[in-house]
Amino acid sequence: MDLRFNTSLAEGYKSAAQIARVLTEDWFARNMYCPICGELSIKRAEPNAPVKDYICGNCKSQYELKSKKENSDRYTTKVNDGVYRTMIERITSLDNPSFFFMHYDCYEVNNLIIVPKCFFTPNVIEKRKPLDAGAKRAGWEGCNILLNNVPEFAKIPIIKNGIALNPKDVCKQYNHVFSLQTNSIESRGWLMDVLSCVERLDETFTLKQMYDFVNELGVKHPNNNNIEAKIRQQLQFLRDKGFIDFTTRGNYKKIGL
Ligand SMILES: [Zn+2]
Repeated sequence: MDLRFNTSLAEGYKSAAQIARVLTEDWFARNMYCPICGELSIKRAEPNAPVKDYICGNCKSQYELKSKKENSDRYTTKVNDGVYRTMIERITSLDNPSFFFMHYDCYEVNNLIIVPKCFFTPNVIEKRKPLDAGAKRAGWEGCNILLNNVPEFAKIPIIKNGIALNPKDVCKQYNHVFSLQTNSIESRGWLMDVLSCVERLDETFTLKQMYDFVNELGVKHPNNNNIEAKIRQQLQFLRDKGFIDFTTRGNYKKIGL
């Protein structure tokens, strides 16, 4: 994989934002494979398709690409995206794209990750302030993706610090992590909230420690009055999918989380 951009394409463009878009999109079209099925390239979707930039011709998976000039393998900031309402509608219909987040610097890609679609919950999407009355698109409400709220293990590396990983390993990792896909937005929310608690604990942890999050989870899920049972159910799910191990009664160990 050649990580350099084709800078000759920048000729004729004046705005830095336009140049960045042209170069990153061209690089992506020439180099990116489908991290789900391994198809050698993915196609650009029709322009202006809502929350969907790319599509795999083989498995029909949808993707969006977000790129930023930065030389870092950390993805913890806010990323601007399109219309808030469209994003929430897509997420809640479970028909949302997975997202690529690219970092580039000095006209080459240094870091690239893919976040499977099951990690996008309303909790990860923040509404931006509507544009002022004087603006061209007054009242327009965009959104931010809060990468801080996405679990670290869900940020699957494709290029890390200037080195492209083996596509087979990327696909394997994607499909392992994507096994956490659930079939309702409510269970997706529960899983992500419990995962974010698990992430804050050490490699081995106890059920008692998990119960310390009952109040916090209760604020997020005010209509549920059996939070402890919900926590146990999510831990069971994570065990069935091979992300944690039950060592002894009430004791857990993380596996690759
Ligand atoms: Zn595919």
